[in-house]
Amino acid sequence: MSFDRILVVDWSANSTPKRGADSIWIGSAGAIATPPQNFATRTEALAHLQDQMQDMLARHQRLLISFDIGFGFPKGFAAHLTGQPSALAVWDWLAARIEDDTKNRNNRFQVAAEINRHFPGLGPFWGRPDTLDLPDLPSKGTLRHGHGLAELRATEALCSGAHPMWKLYTTGSVGSQSLLGQAHLARLRAAFGDALAVWPMEDRAAPITLAETYLSLIDKAVQDSTGYACKDAAQVDLLARAFHSVDLAAMMQPEAPPDTLREEGWILGAGHGAALLASLTQPDLIPPRLRNDCFAMPQGVDWVPVDDAMDRLRAALSSVTTPEQIRTAQAGGRILAQDLIARRANPPAPNSAVDGYGCAHAALGGDGPHTLPLVAGRAAAGQPYTQTVPQGHAIRILTGAILPQGVDTIVLEEDCASDGARVAFDGPVKPRANTRKAGEDIAAGDTFLQTGRILTPADLALASALGLDHLTVHCKLRVGVLSTGDEILPDPSHAAAPHQIYDANRPMLLEIARKWGYQPVDLGCQPDDEATIAKALDQAAESCDVILTSGGASAGDEDHISRLLRQHGHLTSWRIALKPGRPLALALWNGVPVIGLPGNPVAAFVCTLIFGRPALSTLAGSGWISPQGFDLPAAFSKKKKPGRREYLRARLDSQGAVEVFASEGSGRISGLSWAEGLVELPDHAISITPGTRVRYVPFTSFGL
Ligand code: AMP
Ligand code: MG
Repeated sequence: MSFDRILVVDWSANSTPKRGADSIWIGSAGAIATPPQNFATRTEALAHLQDQMQDMLARHQRLLISFDIGFGFPKGFAAHLTGQPSALAVWDWLAARIEDDTKNRNNRFQVAAEINRHFPGLGPFWGRPDTLDLPDLPSKGTLRHGHGLAELRATEALCSGAHPMWKLYTTGSVGSQSLLGQAHLARLRAAFGDALAVWPMEDRAAPITLAETYLSLIDKAVQDSTGYACKDAAQVDLLARAFHSVDLAAMMQPEAPPDTLREEGWILGAGHGAALLASLTQPDLIPPRLRNDCFAMPQGVDWVPVDDAMDRLRAALSSVTTPEQIRTAQAGGRILAQDLIARRANPPAPNSAVDGYGCAHAALGGDGPHTLPLVAGRAAAGQPYTQTVPQGHAIRILTGAILPQGVDTIVLEEDCASDGARVAFDGPVKPRANTRKAGEDIAAGDTFLQTGRILTPADLALASALGLDHLTVHCKLRVGVLSTGDEILPDPSHAAAPHQIYDANRPMLLEIARKWGYQPVDLGCQPDDEATIAKALDQAAESCDVILTSGGASAGDEDHISRLLRQHGHLTSWRIALKPGRPLALALWNGVPVIGLPGNPVAAFVCTLIFGRPALSTLAGSGWISPQGFDLPAAFSKKKKPGRREYLRARLDSQGAVEVFASEGSGRISGLSWAEGLVELPDHAISITPGTRVRYVPFTSFGL
C-alpha cells in the first residue's frame, strides 16, 4: 500500500476548546511539505480532516490518516458489549451514544459508566473528576474488580509505556480519547462509505485508510528535535514524515491472527520503532534542481541576440522552491503550487437573485395577471424556509435566500402588489426568472485555478467561496542581493571619501524583489576580493534560492565576480547584444543560481527587468513571463544602428506620445526616477522621428 499523503493526528479528550500543548495537532507528509496544524476543538479538526479527504478523493490520490488513539479494546470486550467480536461494532455502539458538541462538551464519563454496567464486578473503565457522581465509574484503577478483561491488547505488548485503554482521566488518558475518537470515526466511516477502509480490521483497498498509531514510537527523534511549537507538534510532524519515508506496505502486513486484528486492532508501527527512527535520521536525497551546465553557451558564440538569450535562459531554469500550505486569507500575492479544486459549488444551492415573491412557474398558467395567496413566513439569506410552498401559492423571498421546495421562479418586488396575504403581478413571467442555479458559477469538483497562478484579491474571494481554507503555495523565493566593488560604501550613514560612492544597486534590487512578491535577503556589499566574495557567496547559498550580484561582472582586472564564478561557479558570461548592459554573468554557486548584473545602476536595473524578472518568476514557480508593451507614437528622434537591442528610459507626455530621457548616459540614476517605463528599440536599424510608432513598456508591466 502506498499513500500520496499521510496525516498523523494527536487527538485530545479536552472538554473545553484549547490550543497549544495537549490539544489537537495534525502532522502531514507528502510531496508537499506542510507544517503541523493545531485545532482548538474536535469539530474543527474533523472539518479539516473531511476537507483533506474530499480533496484527495477529487485528486484521485491515496490518503492515510493515523490517530494516536486505540481503535479496539482488549479481547472479549467487543463481543460482550455488542454481541460481535468486532472493534468496528464498538465504534457504531459508541457513535449511537457519545455526544460531543462544537465546544468540546461531551458525555464520555457517563457513557463509560454505562459500559461498566454491562460488565460484572466493577470496571473495566476507571478515572473521572471527583466532581462527577458516577458510582459505576471508579475513580481509582485499584477499586476495580471482577470485570474479567485484560489490561492490555496484544499490540500494546510491543509498545513500551503504552497506557491501558481503560484509563479515562489524567496523564495518558487514552481511554477518553478513544471513546470520543471511535464515535467520531464511526461517523466518518458512514459518511465516506467504500472510499474509506479501517486498517487492519477491513482488508480492502480504499482511497482513504484510517489506522491507529502511537506517537511515542519516535520519542528519541522528538527529544532531539528543535523549532517546534510544542512536543505534540514535533510528534505528529516527525511521525508523518517517518511513515512517508519507510516501506509502509511492509509495515502494514498482518502481524497477528485475523481474529485479534478485527477485535483488538493493531498499532501501525508497533515493533518498528527502530526503522521509523532510522528513516528520520537519513535526510531525503534530493536531486539538484538545476544542472551545473544549465547556463552553458555553445563555443564560439559571440554576441547573442536578446531573444536567443531569453530562449536559452528559459530552457535552463525551472522552479526551485518547495511548496507549503497556508491559510487562504494569507495567500494574496503567493504562487499556487497545486491546481485548486472546488470543495463546494458557487452558489452552493439555487437561490434568489432579487427581493420579490417566489412561486412554482408551472402553476401560473397563462400570461396573467396573477393573484396568489402568500404562505406565512418568508425566505431570506441565511434564514431558509424549510417547508414546501404549495402549488399556486407564493412566498416572500429576499436576495440570496435558498429557493424553498415548490419555488422555481421569482417575480421582482417592484413588479408586485401585496397586502400581506396575497400577491398580484402581471405576466408573462419567464420560468426560473430571477433565480441563480446551484453551481452556475463553479461546480463542486471543478478545477478553478491552475498551479503557477499568482493569487489576486479576487482569487482569495473565489477560493474562500468554494470552501478552501488552506492553499498550497510555493515558499517565497529568497532573493539574495550582493553588491561588490572597492569603491562602494554600504549606505549613506558612512562618511565618504571622494573616491567612494554609496551603494545604489542594493536598495534598488532589494525593493524590486520585494515588489515582485519575493523575500529579499540583504547580503551587504563586499570589496573586490575573491576570498571575501567567495565566503559571502558560500553563506548566501545557504539562505537564498537565487543570488543577484552587481558589479565586477565584466572581464577586466577588477572583475572578481567573473573570475571567481568562472573558477568555482560554472560561470558562463553571456555577451548579450543589449544596451545598456554589458555581459550578463550566469552561474551556479553550490547549486544556487547567481545572476551577475552590471555595476552600473541603469544597466543593472534594465537587465533585472528584462532578464531577472522572467528568470526569478520561473525559479519562484510562476513560470516565464513577458511584459505587456504598447505601440505608441514617439515624441523624439533617433537613428539607431543595427546589431543590438536598446532600452531607453521613457515616459508618456501629455499627448500620450513617448518621450525619452535627455541623456543615454548609463550612470544617470536620475533618469530611472524620471522614467515611468522603457522604450524597446528593435535589434535592427531604425530611424525614429516624432510620430514613428515605438514599443513602450510601462514599469507597471514589469510588475513595478
Ligand atoms: P563594474 O561593473 O564593477 O565595472 O562597475 C561599473 C560602474 O558601476 C562603476 O562606475 C561602479 O562604480 C558602478 N557601481 C558598481 N556597483 C555599484 C553600486 N552598487 N552602486 C552604485 N554604483 C555602482
Ligand atoms: Mg567594480
